[in-house]
Amino acid sequence: MYPSRFAYDAPASVGEAVAILDRSGGEAKVMAGGQSLIPMLKLRFASPERIVDINNIPGLDYHRLDADGTLHIGALCRHEDLEFSEVIAQSHPTLYAAAAVVADPIVRTRGTFVGSVCHADPQGDWAATMIALDGRIVAVGPNGRREIPMRDFVLGPFTNALAYNEIAVEAVIPPAKGKARGGYLKLERRIGDFATASVAVALDMDGDVVRRAGCALAGVGGKTIDANQAISVLNGKALTPDNIEAAADAVAAAADPRTDHRGSAAYKRQIVKTFVTRILDNVARTEQKAA
Ligand SMILES: Cc1cc2nc3c(=O)[nH]c(=O)nc-3n(C[C@H](O)[C@H](O)[C@H](O)COP(=O)(O)OP(=O)(O)OC[C@H]3O[C@@H](n4cnc5c(N)ncnc54)[C@H](O)[C@@H]3O)c2cc1C
Repeated sequence: MYPSRFAYDAPASVGEAVAILDRSGGEAKVMAGGQSLIPMLKLRFASPERIVDINNIPGLDYHRLDADGTLHIGALCRHEDLEFSEVIAQSHPTLYAAAAVVADPIVRTRGTFVGSVCHADPQGDWAATMIALDGRIVAVGPNGRREIPMRDFVLGPFTNALAYNEIAVEAVIPPAKGKARGGYLKLERRIGDFATASVAVALDMDGDVVRRAGCALAGVGGKTIDANQAISVLNGKALTPDNIEAAADAVAAAADPRTDHRGSAAYKRQIVKTFVTRILDNVARTEQKAA
């Protein structure tokens, strides 16, 4: 199917893009990588009057680590920039593990991290990592900049907290309080598929004790599931088999899967439990070897 007719702008600055969105009164859509928006247009799930393509805006294609460990990911940082990033490989195990399993290599060349978070697909990979890592989105609108904590950003399936005249200019991930550990595991029917179930775990470790545990789930609820509260049973504790089992049970209970063509609800919940256990076991083993 062809998209409905739309006007097209490719502004050269964030200010110009915001002004166009503002004038459009909610009838325009931002386009970053277009890897979700273009299929939505073609299927006529979205029929905006205007597309505001941000790809001509210079200076948004970065990711950088501050001296204090804060990570910034600009609105035009592509999935593959993170997949092949030495910075991410060295500093952010949860993001690094996810980067290789987002969509397929072709989509990863164009799709953006921030676009994926904005898309708020319940099966999207990056929103789950952002919630586990307690990230935030920096938005720019007619009244300036504001920061939106990730726990408040995903409002529902394909719905985020941005106003119609705001652009997400970057994602920010705070520094780990201690050593950053964690992982991302995804069950997909074949390479390039969305998650049947996936689990993002981020741990800040102090020796063998967990200072802060973060977790979020994709594919097992009507929106990305914030499982931070569930996995917080690990805070202040060591990764013993009993503590790992308690955390995996708590996270599995936080999932809200539905039976569909990808599997039964019970199967998906079991996958969540297995993945949490695997990620935590792996961290525990790595820490033991390092000690
Ligand atoms: C074949 C295929 C397989 C895929 N598999 C997966 C998968 O396994 N896991 C996964 O997570 N994703 C998957 N995707 C989606 C893909 O990762 C997209 O790249 C991503 O979801 C959206 O990023 P984008 O930059 O392409 O955003 P776009 O498609 O440009 O935009 C998506 C939405 O976000 C909004 N938006 C984008 N950027 C901004 C911004 N800076 N400010 C405000 N709003 C913004 C747009 O208006 C639109 O509503 C798949 C896509 C395809 C085509």
